[in-house]
Amino acid sequence: MTKLVILPGDGIGPEIIDASLPILEKVSEKFNLEFSMETADFGGNAYDKHGNPFPDETWEKVQNSNAVILGSVGGPKWDDLPRELRPEAALLGIRKRLGLYCNIRPVKYHDILASKVVWKEEYIKGVDIVIIRELTGGAYFGAKGRDEHKAFDNIEYTAEEVERIVRRGFEIAMNRKKVLHSVDKANVLESSRLWREVTLRVAKEYPEVRLEHLYVDNAALQLVINPKQFDVIVTENMFGDILSDQAAALAGSLGMLPSASLGGEIGVYEPAHGSAPDIAGQDKANPLATILSLAMMLRFTCKNEEAAKAIEVAVEKVMNAGFATIDIAGPNSKLVGTKEMAELVLKEI
Ligand code: ATP
Ligand code: MG
Repeated sequence: MTKLVILPGDGIGPEIIDASLPILEKVSEKFNLEFSMETADFGGNAYDKHGNPFPDETWEKVQNSNAVILGSVGGPKWDDLPRELRPEAALLGIRKRLGLYCNIRPVKYHDILASKVVWKEEYIKGVDIVIIRELTGGAYFGAKGRDEHKAFDNIEYTAEEVERIVRRGFEIAMNRKKVLHSVDKANVLESSRLWREVTLRVAKEYPEVRLEHLYVDNAALQLVINPKQFDVIVTENMFGDILSDQAAALAGSLGMLPSASLGGEIGVYEPAHGSAPDIAGQDKANPLATILSLAMMLRFTCKNEEAAKAIEVAVEKVMNAGFATIDIAGPNSKLVGTKEMAELVLKEI
């Protein structure tokens, strides 16, 4: 029995979660898996209800679970709150408390997106990249400060923190094409120098993996001009945040990208996009990022590759049949809403 806590969150979160969960029921029937599900408040809605974006009762439920399925949190409504009460604080809090240092974001190009991407097909056809982002260190968690004249956010990493994430990179590279790109800024940042030293040290244990180092500015350029050279990218928190949104362009929409955050006993699975307040409540949001995140949960928490694949293949089929939400629709697409998209995937399974 896999115990799931569902955190629908804010904005499009609740509607993409509602649409996607029936797929999990279908998968559980088909593959004989057992799930229990509990829903809890998290993010802006939790602040409105409890005065706290990450209430204690939610934390208790999370601690008793095997995995968390998260919609998305945040929105302009809560932007002016003090930092520790903002929905984003809940997100950083859950990552830190669960020790989720490893964020995995696969980025895949689908032929059907040809009209949505700015690249010529020859440059992008076949793009299949996994970005591994360090999630509990760096500038987002280092010492912060502010006075009238200055502000700072320290990038801090210990050798151990670098080693465990880089090791994940090598492990994943070993299961794929045995090529790993490590992204840093070792020409200017001390934290990046440590990153590179540790990476070189760990590399000795993986002689089969071809390791390449790139400065983050060059990595950003290379992702645009020649994305097919990449297979697995490993990088620190802020660089990974930026590069993975940039790489979303390769997949045609943020609405296509799932993510898994791992490192402790409990994994968190969520779409890479935010709460998209501009389209919330309109049945327009693409649920595929969330649906593909469920597949990642089946892969990493349930260790059921077959069930994970069943979802991924179903998504592929629905897209190849020309169905699209507005964010990925081209001139010949059959336009569908959030619910219908999820129903189509369910039927395929
Ligand atoms: P965050 O700070 O939480 O990452 P963000 O500022 O990056 O949020 P998003 O909420 O991810 O912003 O939205 C960015 C743009 O992408 C918006 O125009 C939004 O409508 C669009 N978008 C995001 N997710 C989806 C989705 N699932 N389907 C369709 N469009 C989406
Ligand atoms: Mg974002």
